[in-house]
Amino acid sequence: MPALAKAGREPVSVTVLNYHKVDSMHISLSVLPSDFAWQMQYLEDHGFHPITPDELYDSLEGRGDLPEKPVLITFDDGYADNYKNAYPILKKHNFKATIFVVTGFMGKRKGYLTWDQCREMEKNGISIQAHTVDHRSMTDLTDDEIRSEIVDSKKQAEDELGHPVEYMAYPTGACNLHIAQLVKEAGYKAAFTIRYGNADPESNVYAIERVPVFHTANTNRDFIERITYTPLFERFGWKKS
Ligand SMILES: [Zn+2]
Repeated sequence: MPALAKAGREPVSVTVLNYHKVDSMHISLSVLPSDFAWQMQYLEDHGFHPITPDELYDSLEGRGDLPEKPVLITFDDGYADNYKNAYPILKKHNFKATIFVVTGFMGKRKGYLTWDQCREMEKNGISIQAHTVDHRSMTDLTDDEIRSEIVDSKKQAEDELGHPVEYMAYPTGACNLHIAQLVKEAGYKAAFTIRYGNADPESNVYAIERVPVFHTANTNRDFIERITYTPLFERFGWKKS
């Protein structure tokens, strides 16, 4: 069923774009920097307004107003190329974005962000949030292991960044209602999956849908189709399961 509109308001339906790497690797998880630049220009030219996770959360909870054509731009894993290749483009457009970082990889593994880079980006509209400590698929873990993945990554990110970290993305998207409950108990406001779809008031805030952007044979055409048709798709009765 389409989401119920509040009086005089369009139903909330927000595309949460999900990127990983922005680099010239020619693999599906790595969007070319030139394609990423093209996509951000497309969003600007077509009147999209990037928002923060707080803005999305508040609107899903029935509070706060969203700008016209809201979009949440997210990156998973915390690759160094997000800083090197995506951040300058985001800054040029003055776009907000969110990076879910694997705290155990930060500054330790080659190819991942450092906390200094994160602190610098946070001064310019990029929100850093959690993607667990070790990027293990949570459906394979015991409750104690899940708790340490979600609690320790939150605490470490908060210590490094100096603000509450209240959003997370599930590694590989794997989650279930029990895991969602543990995430809630750990103090997160919401969590993101890789289930395909737009976020709307029917979404479980601990399992918010996203729309991945992949490097394909025609990356930018596929990007346009996804950002154009996902909302329509849902308004005409595509059901969330
Ligand atoms: Zn990941």
